Amino acid sequence: MPRAEKKHPKEEVTVVLIKPDGVKRGLIGETIKRFEQRGLKVIALSMDYATKEKMDGHYPKKREWISRLGGKTMKTYKEYGIDPKKQHGTSDLYKIGLEVRSWLINYMTSGPIVKVIVKGIHAIDMVRKLSGVTMPYKAELGSIRGDFSVDSPAAANKDKRAIHNVVHASENEEEVKHEIAYWFKKNDIHDYKRVEEDLMF
Ligand code: GDP
Ligand code: MG
Repeated sequence: MPRAEKKHPKEEVTVVLIKPDGVKRGLIGETIKRFEQRGLKVIALSMDYATKEKMDGHYPKKREWISRLGGKTMKTYKEYGIDPKKQHGTSDLYKIGLEVRSWLINYMTSGPIVKVIVKGIHAIDMVRKLSGVTMPYKAELGSIRGDFSVDSPAAANKDKRAIHNVVHASENEEEVKHEIAYWFKKNDIHDYKRVEEDLMF
C-alpha cells in the first residue's frame, strides 16, 4: 500500500511490542538500541501484561487478515509436505488463520510485553527492516529476528503455538493508527528533538 504523503518523512511513527520471549530473554535494551542507533527515536515506552481480551483487540479481526495468516501457515505446509487436515482438521485458510491467531494470543499473554512508539524517517519500513521477516529462520542476519531467534513455522505449527520472533512491528499506517490509540494515552507520548537531528538528516 502506498504511504499517504501528508507529513514530512521525519514525522512518521510506528509501534513496536517486545514480545514475551524478547522480554524474558533480556532483549529489551538490545532491541531498543537497534532503533536508536539507526537515528530513530523512542517517544513512548511502557510495560504491560495483557489479558487475552486486551490482546484480542490488538490483532485485526478482518476476514482478510485472518485468511492471510492462514495462507502463511499453508505456505509452510506446502513447503514441508505437512497435511493441513492432520494439523487443523481443515484446509480452509480462514479457519486455519483463526487457530493461528488464537495461538498468537496465548503467546502474547504468556508474559509481560514492552510497548514502544518509534519515530523517525520512514519509521514503519525502517523498523520492519530492522526487525527482519516474520519467520526467524529466514530473517536476515543483522536483523533482530535473524540475530536472536531460530524459530520456524514448521516447528511452531507442529507444537500448536505461534512463532517466537521477539518483536511485533506495525506493518502499515492503518495498523499504526489502531495500535497507538489502542495501547497509549496522549500523556504517554513525549516527543523531543534528538541532538543528532540537525546532523544526520
Ligand atoms: P509479522 O507482522 O511479521 O509479525 O507477521 P504477521 O502479522 O503475519 O503474523 C503475526 C504473528 O503471528 C507473527 O509475528 C508470528 O508470531 C505469528 N505467525 C505468523 N505466521 C505464522 C505461521 O505460519 N505459523 C505460526 N505458528 N505462527 C505464525
Ligand atoms: Mg503483522
